[in-house]
Amino acid sequence: MKKVLVLLAIGLIGFLAWAAAGPGTSAPSVVTPSVVTPAQRAMGVAPAIVTPMIGDSAAPRPMIIPVAGVDRSAMRDMFNEVRGNHRHEAIDILAPRGTPVIAADDGVVRKLFTSAAGGLTVYEFDPDQRYCYYYAHLDAYAQGLHEGQLLHRGDILGYVGTTGNAPKDTPHLHFALIRLDPDRRWWKGTYVNPYPLLR
Ligand SMILES: [Zn+2]
Repeated sequence: MKKVLVLLAIGLIGFLAWAAAGPGTSAPSVVTPSVVTPAQRAMGVAPAIVTPMIGDSAAPRPMIIPVAGVDRSAMRDMFNEVRGNHRHEAIDILAPRGTPVIAADDGVVRKLFTSAAGGLTVYEFDPDQRYCYYYAHLDAYAQGLHEGQLLHRGDILGYVGTTGNAPKDTPHLHFALIRLDPDRRWWKGTYVNPYPLLR
């Protein structure tokens, strides 16, 4: 019996050693899909290149701090902070409840949306429809605010609050800058750090 156990133990150790070394002994095979067939390559066909949409690589436009009366020194860069299981990818601007939230840039109200996390939110597209400005946790919208409304930098969108998942004792604006995908859907894009751009 003892002998069997010893053999089992040796077998187990061997297996573990093999398992531990296994993945490292051969390079992981990454299959890169190609849009060019070998036959096409032989004929000299170049891979298809996705033509960038207007401004795909262009820098964001200048922005103002989107909460009335808040100085840059009162903000900090929290774009890369981890919140729960995701990166924050936004800036929180603390201010008393009811402080006006103002448009960071000219643009158009693309969507007024209520979500579990963001609460009362505004999605504003910039005039070139390259970037979206996202304002969340609003206490209320500015009176008459509606989708399609043209905005000038500094126009009041709403008021600082704690709707959504904001702590009820910490009113703030959650502000994000999103580079839109070429199809310009308000819910799709790549988050860009607005902190260095806010003046
Ligand atoms: Zn936030």
